[in-house]
Amino acid sequence: MREPNSLAARVLKAKYFRRTDFLHSREAYSASLTWKGIWEARYILQAGCRRRIGNGRSTRVWEDPWLPGSSCFNVVTPRANGCEVEWVSELIDDVTHSWRRELVYQLFSEYEAQLVLSIPLSWRSLEDDWVWQHTREGCYSVKSGYHVACHSHQNPQQPSSSAGEFRGQILWRLELPERIKVFLWSAYRDILPTKENLRKRRVDIDNYCPVCGEMAETGVHVLKDCQFARAVWLGSQLNLRVADMQVDSFAEFFDTVALTVDQRKLALFGVVCWSLWNNRNDILWESKRQQPQHVCEMAVRFLQEYGEAVRHKCGTRGGPRRGEIKWEPPDESHFKVNVDGALFQNSKEFGVGAVVRDCNGEVIAAMSCRRQGTLRVEAVEAYGLRGALQWAYELGLRKIIVECDCAVVVQWLGSQHAVLLSELGGVLADCKGLMDRFNECRVQHVRRAGNQVAHELARRAEYIAGDEFWVEEVPDPIKAFVLNDMA
Ligand SMILES: [Zn+2]
Repeated sequence: MREPNSLAARVLKAKYFRRTDFLHSREAYSASLTWKGIWEARYILQAGCRRRIGNGRSTRVWEDPWLPGSSCFNVVTPRANGCEVEWVSELIDDVTHSWRRELVYQLFSEYEAQLVLSIPLSWRSLEDDWVWQHTREGCYSVKSGYHVACHSHQNPQQPSSSAGEFRGQILWRLELPERIKVFLWSAYRDILPTKENLRKRRVDIDNYCPVCGEMAETGVHVLKDCQFARAVWLGSQLNLRVADMQVDSFAEFFDTVALTVDQRKLALFGVVCWSLWNNRNDILWESKRQQPQHVCEMAVRFLQEYGEAVRHKCGTRGGPRRGEIKWEPPDESHFKVNVDGALFQNSKEFGVGAVVRDCNGEVIAAMSCRRQGTLRVEAVEAYGLRGALQWAYELGLRKIIVECDCAVVVQWLGSQHAVLLSELGGVLADCKGLMDRFNECRVQHVRRAGNQVAHELARRAEYIAGDEFWVEEVPDPIKAFVLNDMA
């Protein structure tokens, strides 16, 4: 039945249920013995079989069993007069891959609407499929000759790696600390929390550059066009006359410079940018002002010390004391992403929190998001994992270790077949597709005690107004947990 195109299935279909499919067929009068056996098994199967929704295109809203959690899996809410919705796909917004909540609430009773909204949706256009309800993995098999094949015949398309081909990719090869590369990538992608970018996110602030107080603060302004930045570039070893460069964005600025200098100088360029950003932060948050010359000297010294540190690196780090569960920093070449989800029962919403840290335990980025939906715990964790993978990729990270405290999700992600038949199969396939885009990506289980920061970020999503993202910082209440991990 899971293989409608197999020979036996086609023969049977031609003979007995040409116009319908298996669960809707009527017993034929002169049925063959094979068919009799299957016919009896049908009752067992029908009691526990339902449609797993992929794209919803082959599941009928009012006739097919597809609602998880209800006793018969069929919709009980009567179909309203004149209702033209036939297929489950009509309930799905295929741009956002989410349920059309208003329509769902309009068509179904409150209870059934909740059941619909609890069905996780994949980002891929997977076919709908039959699943067996009574095991978690959604796979059914019996010895008595009836066998639901457990192998996956899905062929999920790889997401295209469109975000990957910028000239800016060169920056990942620079001999610089990873956090500076992430900063540069953020600037390149124009996602630094400059005042202009914050205003785009509807944060109500003025947009004046905190350094010169005259112009609007964009990434290219702070790092190139600001009077202070111009003085720094001119005084630096790079001796750049940036006023003569006609560029509209930091990305163009970077590309232009990258074409004319060697790797060592490009690394210095990166450190100067980072110093300019730090100077901007010092002025904004601590009212500390420095001379352009000082910023130049700091950048050179930083690069020297970093070079020496890399050469003299002896990577010995004390492990945790025995029996104690703690967050562990990754090695120098990886970032660690901790992710967690939290259910908010009262509001029928859930939260996702994630944090990226480097080998020193320094926070590179953090996020806290709230989503609507009454998902099960594992689904929330899987949604969180998918969101965190996507976010880490967009941040420009390429070698990551991801930790999540839901053992089931980690285990399912590692299994080959059965998982694709489960309710969460589509979302987990999304995760696998995202994982393949990284140069290195490993997802592992961590006990809750090792996942405190992500846990707090997820819980805090209940109280925020909109999604929150931080680069190189975390909100104050979370800082204590970050420090605790490094204690
Ligand atoms: Zn300025």
